[in-house]
Amino acid sequence: MSAASLTTTPLVSLVVPVFNEQESIPVFIDAIINERQQWDFDTEIIFVDDGSSDQSLTLLRQAAEQYDFIQYVSFSRNFGKEIALSAGLDHARGDAAVMLDVDLQHPLATIPEFVDKWQNEGYDMVYGLRNLDNQETWLKRATSRLFYKLFNLMAHSPLPEGGGDFRLLDRKVIDALCAMPERNRFMKGLYAWVGFKSVGIRYEQPARELGESKFNYWKLWNFALDGLVSFSTWPLRMWSYVGGVVAVLAFIYASLIVIKTLVSGVDVPGYASMLTGVLFLGGMQLLSIGVIGEYLGRLFVETKNRPLYVVAEKRTHTKEDAE
Ligand code: UDP
Ligand code: MG
Repeated sequence: MSAASLTTTPLVSLVVPVFNEQESIPVFIDAIINERQQWDFDTEIIFVDDGSSDQSLTLLRQAAEQYDFIQYVSFSRNFGKEIALSAGLDHARGDAAVMLDVDLQHPLATIPEFVDKWQNEGYDMVYGLRNLDNQETWLKRATSRLFYKLFNLMAHSPLPEGGGDFRLLDRKVIDALCAMPERNRFMKGLYAWVGFKSVGIRYEQPARELGESKFNYWKLWNFALDGLVSFSTWPLRMWSYVGGVVAVLAFIYASLIVIKTLVSGVDVPGYASMLTGVLFLGGMQLLSIGVIGEYLGRLFVETKNRPLYVVAEKRTHTKEDAE
């Protein structure tokens, strides 16, 4: 349904992934209740409990009991934020969905701006752009910059620098994303892949106040690797070129040795150069096998065709209820 053709008040589903966030949940709910009174569109919240082991689920149950617009889906274990977002979209009934974090790092005041661009300017996707310079450590600043550069160099659909999961999706985009079968869900890449008319809005991202970040450097590194491998075959193809260059260099070197032997006779064999050559090539072969392994491993996961997530418990208004 296009936003322009809506005659009734649109419904916007807020999709909120939650993983061990007992400190943030009550504050978030209070903030939303306060804020949504001023909004001229309807909202529902779909919390996705991503296998929390603290009191998060109890808090969500209570909230859903108390407020009709709050719903939740609870996973049987931790499946990761990307899958939690996908599950939220699967259960969203809205004419549009906005995905946001529960830690209030995504300012609620930006949501009406998203809706305005969607309703009045006809954009299908409105994404928040945060300033990458405002991150906590220089290492995070440098590595996130590097990631966007590398991704945009290698993948067909470029990512806007600083555009994350905080964004509004029109129903068309939600349906396109939900129809994607892959298990490896690097959402930022999927948003770019589906296309549609999109626009970015700048926002200031405050530091997290309650609880702590669920992403350490090791998780972020694996996340980046997932993104690159899922959206580009460059790491795989690169080895053909490397192989070609090495073969040419080896041929030139071999020719030089033959000429040198012909001119000045048989020399003492070059132990050092031989060992260097062998070790260098050995290292390169292991590296290239490792890259093939990255792709093969993902292929293996995809072919098993397992469901994306397992729901242990939920309380949602199904699509049928709404009609
Ligand atoms: N989250 C999740 N599953 C995970 C890790 C995180 O659902 O495995 C949620 C988390 O509860 C939060 C959002 O994803 O609502 C963003 O996480 P966080 O604030 O820790 O990330 P950061 O802001 O540090 O990138
Ligand atoms: Mg956060």
